[in-house]
Amino acid sequence: MKVPFYTSVREYNNRKSEFNDAIQSVVSKGDFILGGKVLEFEEEIKDYTGAEYAIGVASGTDALTIAADILGFKDGKEVITSPFTFLASASCVLRNRGKVVFVDIDEDTFEINTDMIEEKINNNTVGILPIHLFDQMANMDRIMEIAKKYNLRVLEDAAEAFGMRWKGNGNTYRHAGTIGDFGIFSFFPTKTLGGYGDGGMIITNDESLAKLAKSYRVHGASKKYHYDYIGYNSRLDTLQAAILSVKLKYIDDAIEKRNKVANIYMENLKDCSYIRLPKIKYEQKGVYYVFNILAEDRDNLANYLKEKEVGYSIYYPMPLHLQRSFEHLGYKKGDFPVSEKISQSIIALPIYPEITEDEVLYVCETIKNFYRK
Ligand SMILES: *Cc1c(COP(=O)(O)O)cnc(C)c1O
Repeated sequence: MKVPFYTSVREYNNRKSEFNDAIQSVVSKGDFILGGKVLEFEEEIKDYTGAEYAIGVASGTDALTIAADILGFKDGKEVITSPFTFLASASCVLRNRGKVVFVDIDEDTFEINTDMIEEKINNNTVGILPIHLFDQMANMDRIMEIAKKYNLRVLEDAAEAFGMRWKGNGNTYRHAGTIGDFGIFSFFPTKTLGGYGDGGMIITNDESLAKLAKSYRVHGASKKYHYDYIGYNSRLDTLQAAILSVKLKYIDDAIEKRNKVANIYMENLKDCSYIRLPKIKYEQKGVYYVFNILAEDRDNLANYLKEKEVGYSIYYPMPLHLQRSFEHLGYKKGDFPVSEKISQSIIALPIYPEITEDEVLYVCETIKNFYRK
């Protein structure tokens, strides 16, 4: 049996006429740049997440870079984040000539270890950039507490966190990205809410920050051809917005299906002593955007899965502090032992709403067969 790690084709085939109509509606009007569908989709995102403002941009990476620029995560100022993440969580600060200060991750959740943040704060620190990675949010109660104490700004990298909600010690659940000063989403095709190309969104509850973000995405213009800032050309494509609107209608069902798939994995792998299953900590509603296991002899398991045509992915094989492009920060091997250790044994299994139970069971059987050898 061949099990793809990810495919958009099944969902497309299931709702072909809806997706085709959405695309047609844009093309037939020629409404391409910041067209009506972008505004509609921004409204829908506000409704869904509870954010007061939503600004569609060209990618999650651009969303991070623009938000970092506006928050002053730049020009030699220090921003605290984790090295166990996708590049863009840190490159957004470096692109703005800021300094990235890494803190290792929690061994159970792979989120930033909030007990280690305070010791890295100095007079030059301006912000914290937590990443809500894979299946759950970072400890936002603790992060907001520290930010308040030291007067820091918070940019939530919620690229992977669509649908995740944090309660912590609060009274209500708040959507990922709505707790810090800015939050960002990525609509990269594999993401829980993924488009048919690149796309991203900046969200905030702060009116003046929202105004800046809106201006920065159109070259820093306040009105057409009047530029107050040196901004970006980074707009959510209208075709992507139309497609994403269709997907957003069914997102709760899609999330539910992901969680069901995760449960099948957990049920069928729980007795396998060679692997460790994910754990969600604190009062929150996670979403299984990625289903990771920690596996003994990971690289050989990966080869075996490949041989058996089971898709997998490794997020992330090398923490950022060991990347060549980060050499100038002066970090070395051993600086973030938890991130380094996890990167050696982590492996992500196929998960998407359309994967069948038979396929998931086949993935589990294949893994168990590998360790029986
Ligand atoms: C996907 C992702 C991004 C970047 O999003 P793009 O839309 O691909 O630019 C940023 N941070 C994290 C944690 C991501 O997973």
